[in-house]
Amino acid sequence: MNKPLSRRNLIAAAAPAALLAGVAGRALSRENMQNTHSSTTSSRPVRPVDAVFSPPPVHWVGDGFRVAGYMNVIPDAAQRLSPFLLLDYHPPFAYEPSVRQRGVGVHPHRGFETVTLAWEGSVAHHDSTGAGGIIGPGDVQWMTAASGILHKEHHEAEFSRRGGVMHMAQLWVNLPGSHKMKRPGYQPITAADIHELTLPNGGGSVRVIAGELGGVKGPARTATKVHVFDARLAAGGKLELPIAGRENLSVLVMSGDIVVGAETAAKQGDFVLFKNEGELATLEAKSQAHLLVLGGEPIGEPVVQYGPFAMNTKQEIAQAYQDYRSGKFGYLED
Ligand code: MN
Repeated sequence: MNKPLSRRNLIAAAAPAALLAGVAGRALSRENMQNTHSSTTSSRPVRPVDAVFSPPPVHWVGDGFRVAGYMNVIPDAAQRLSPFLLLDYHPPFAYEPSVRQRGVGVHPHRGFETVTLAWEGSVAHHDSTGAGGIIGPGDVQWMTAASGILHKEHHEAEFSRRGGVMHMAQLWVNLPGSHKMKRPGYQPITAADIHELTLPNGGGSVRVIAGELGGVKGPARTATKVHVFDARLAAGGKLELPIAGRENLSVLVMSGDIVVGAETAAKQGDFVLFKNEGELATLEAKSQAHLLVLGGEPIGEPVVQYGPFAMNTKQEIAQAYQDYRSGKFGYLED
């Protein structure tokens, strides 16, 4: 670990794992709020699409997570997607039964949060603060690395033994400089904690994980304004996102075919990035669709990202490596 690794290598060798598993049909909400988007929103200026990115090739994180690294293919992603630094999407993939738990061994993070979402399959996590848990279908783990943490991420033991389909994602959410060196934190968010917005006319439903939509608030506590929505649309279902252009906004199409705005088509695996203009993003499903909506207020600070660390300056990165090597991130058995 003395030699700086390239970002890609370090991520492949040590970093995150995208965990998500989106599962349709699970009754995840405690309440089905019949909120509808106000009809007055339709007069707001629509947010135009900047670009639609095709799915990047998949790579392995450790031996446990077969992910597509979306941020690697988006120019200036750390600013355009701010506060998001990384989206590793693990499309549904069937693992053979295994005696050994596949995954990623002990590695550090500093300066941001790792957010793991599971739709199918089950992931076990342990970190150097003593926190740990199982992330199962519908669950979200919101881990604040902040000043520094060591963790490891593996297929959960029973899932490993049985084998099965894993479907998940991992996001890295940046922290503002004022929060980067705070104490680490850990929010285990279970499926039951996540409320669901029911769309009008049988259009589908949206699990609000962070931020707010149609009066439904997400359970995640965040340092800055962040939206993470897990949306399932029926064919013909319409989703309106009243997120104005001063905030970044993007949508990953996990399955289905959609039209964004008046005429931009996007299909399974596509990543839609909106321009920073307008006030209302509109989406319509042409077939049953499963979407991950990512938005938020740009942090507006320099991002220096190196492997598992994201800070504001090169000096802070050098300090992170020095602190990591000298044991300041604590201890975690591999
Ligand atoms: Mn990690």
